[in-house]
Amino acid sequence: MTRRKPVVAANWKMNGSRHLVDSLLQQIKQSGVDQQLDVVLSPPATLYSYVDDAIKQLELNVILAAQNINELDSGAYTGEISAHLAKESGCKWVICGHSERRSLFNESSKVTAQKFIKAQSLGMKPVLCVGETTEEHEQGKTYSRLTAQIETILHLGGIDAIKDCIIAYEPIWAVGTGKPASPKLAQEVHRFIRGMISAICPETAQSIRILYGGSVTPDNVDSMFKQPDIDGGLIGGASLVPEKFIKICQAA
Ligand code: PGA
Repeated sequence: MTRRKPVVAANWKMNGSRHLVDSLLQQIKQSGVDQQLDVVLSPPATLYSYVDDAIKQLELNVILAAQNINELDSGAYTGEISAHLAKESGCKWVICGHSERRSLFNESSKVTAQKFIKAQSLGMKPVLCVGETTEEHEQGKTYSRLTAQIETILHLGGIDAIKDCIIAYEPIWAVGTGKPASPKLAQEVHRFIRGMISAICPETAQSIRILYGGSVTPDNVDSMFKQPDIDGGLIGGASLVPEKFIKICQAA
């Protein structure tokens, strides 16, 4: 089996600046990590065009990703950004259903699925975030939660929808807490997700990239990325420090 190309994605959330864009992209250029794996940068929307221009100027292979889109095409939705607008600003990928969108902005799995399908309809690759809460984790409901989240995509988009996407397993109890899942647990969950996809589409199960997200740092990344079903990471806090982000990319 050919090895899946690793993905390391920086999710800046509501952080960052033009200055940080310059500094991170310069360091990516110097390290050459963008030549070896899919390096993704997801800054706040006000920086999309700036990042897109800088990627072209520096001739980098960095992929620009939107942190969120609205599921509709246009209209009176103050403050929202459509997939068209994100694409026009240079976004190639879209993070869909991040746990902060789901919990802080009441985004349902159905709306996440609508965003996912909308992104694909415009040729953008969705990065579907799935994960369980602390309570679900403690009650042994992780697998049923993930199954429900992935099935919503299948119901709306069919098997084809799952063929061209990235999945990010982000246990909510590990996001931004400094307490990552153990590599063993993350591997078990990733294997479960791959198995679930294998049951409906075996070829996709071999090729789909499943990322781990939740308190990944240069100190814990090696053992995480060594797991056979972990194909990279979605990085929050550590992606705001260019040196740390590069180290994480180098571990992939
Ligand atoms: P974290 O965030 O690395 O700060 O835990 C990960 C994420 O939210 O994608």
